[in-house]
Amino acid sequence: MTTPMVKAEGVHKSFGAAHILKGIDLEVAPREVFCLVGPSGSGKSTFLRCINHLEQINAGRLWVDGQLVGYRQKGDKLYELKDSEVALQRRDIGMVFQRFNLFPHMTAIENVMEAPIQVKGEAKAVARARAEKLLDRVGLGDKTKNYPSQLSGGQQQRVAIARALAMEPKLMLFDEPTSALDPELVGDVLDVMRGLAEDGMTMIVVTHEMGFAREVGDALVFMDDGVVVESGHPRDVLTNPQQDRTKAFLSKVL
Ligand code: ADP
Ligand code: MG
Repeated sequence: MTTPMVKAEGVHKSFGAAHILKGIDLEVAPREVFCLVGPSGSGKSTFLRCINHLEQINAGRLWVDGQLVGYRQKGDKLYELKDSEVALQRRDIGMVFQRFNLFPHMTAIENVMEAPIQVKGEAKAVARARAEKLLDRVGLGDKTKNYPSQLSGGQQQRVAIARALAMEPKLMLFDEPTSALDPELVGDVLDVMRGLAEDGMTMIVVTHEMGFAREVGDALVFMDDGVVVESGHPRDVLTNPQQDRTKAFLSKVL
């Protein structure tokens, strides 16, 4: 049996008295494109943030590639990892947000080179060569010297994807990567994500782009109010939803 790339077992997360994740169970296989959909406020971003150590879970277990996120287990006891150990786990996970969060004072290629140099201590020439390849791959080989302000939203988002890939992650998390884009710029970003999927990248994609989910997704989970309501192959869930909450949501977005 292959180790799941992500496994969640009974994951709970609260902010103060607000119970946001109420026992999430799911598995993401290696090389899978796993789509996470659901209404605003259902906890999708919170779940991604837990995978990427931006939030700590309150109960349950979360593993990435067989390693407990943030903890080491000895017997039945859990010990919190040191900051340096958490940093090592996070290095392997790329994240792309709705807002592109590029460094405004750096060119596209400098944005892509930054993390490998700063975090991995990589030589500049090596980081530059990889960044050139990655920008080429996302269709921006001719924009390497542009600053973010000189790029469209869709181009900035593709730089953000290249920047995440520069750390050679084993898992990519996308949190509504096209939601902030003008409609005519969405396609180029989805094409880049489709290419990544074809190359075998494991991806969790929070999206309202049901066309993408249907064509590229291998699995789809519908989440509402902090629980997994329904899951299955995207084609099955999208064309034949079983739960009323799923039907109600899909009738609004499809
Ligand atoms: P989604 O991404 O599905 O729209 P989120 O995970 O962003 O949902 O949010 C789920 C709920 O958690 C929302 O009600 C939101 O207000 C709340 N929430 C998210 N982050 C925090 C936080 N840091 N502090 C308090 N509440 C939060
Ligand atoms: Mg969100």
